[in-house]
Amino acid sequence: GPARTLAVRIAPLGVRLVLVLLEDRTRERRVEAIRRDFVANVSHELKTPVGAIRLLSEAVEEAADDPEAVQRFASRMGVESQRLGRLVQQIIELSRLQDDDPIEALSSVDLDAVIDRVIDENATDAADKQIAVVRDGDADVALLGNTEQVALALGNLVANAIGYSPDSSRVVIHVTARSGDVDIAVTDQGIGIPAPEIDRIFERFYRVDPARHRSTGGTGLGLSIVKHVVASHGGEVKVWSVEGAGSTFTLTLPRKQAAARRTSYDDIDL
Ligand code: ADP
Repeated sequence: GPARTLAVRIAPLGVRLVLVLLEDRTRERRVEAIRRDFVANVSHELKTPVGAIRLLSEAVEEAADDPEAVQRFASRMGVESQRLGRLVQQIIELSRLQDDDPIEALSSVDLDAVIDRVIDENATDAADKQIAVVRDGDADVALLGNTEQVALALGNLVANAIGYSPDSSRVVIHVTARSGDVDIAVTDQGIGIPAPEIDRIFERFYRVDPARHRSTGGTGLGLSIVKHVVASHGGEVKVWSVEGAGSTFTLTLPRKQAAARRTSYDDIDL
């Protein structure tokens, strides 16, 4: 943060070096601990679908002369392998985000194009549940960031909004542009999140209640990905939710013009 940067800058060169090195060591250790923890969780999460697929394949072999049972086991294998595929994909996305955080090259992101793409990518899932995904608010807004990452974050929010909503409901993507940044709010009329759980949903692999899950099963990684994207953009994500009524997830990201005017402490010569 700024305070630490100032202290380091004012200290004489020798002290400054020691401070920087200490800070690096602590950060290194923390990153290392997080990584170990993540690997342990990943192995655990991967074992579940892999184990299920193995058991189901055995069951298929044993039920060879019962076509109905074969059909049932095969379809469950399909569900489990889909889940496994999604898990692997999200783990890859998350580790990519962890590697290049914060973003090196911020560029102009066409928000309208990102929203179109996200709606398009989720069209099948929305149609399956007769859910209308609509957009309103400001148009023609440019962000300062990384298009792929913004699409990934918004995509996860929209997929959740659809996944945790009843058939024939509505999902609204509302854009509010301000001078310095822009709010992108995704509102659903879904099951909502119990108040005591709200603080935990951004944790990796955290799911509110696996039993109430969409039938295909979530990974618990979507919102961790959102959190990383927001952090690497210097933005924010907020949740407002009422159990049984719905949720709103709001991304706040820097707008293009304003962000270019920002002064960083590195530009001030002390
Ligand atoms: P998942 O793959 O399980 O959806 P996420 O990290 O995206 O993982 O979300 C974590 C948990 O937060 C979900 O398992 C779900 O319980 C809850 N959640 C996320 N988005 C919503 C939403 N729009 N409505 C209700 N619950 C949600």
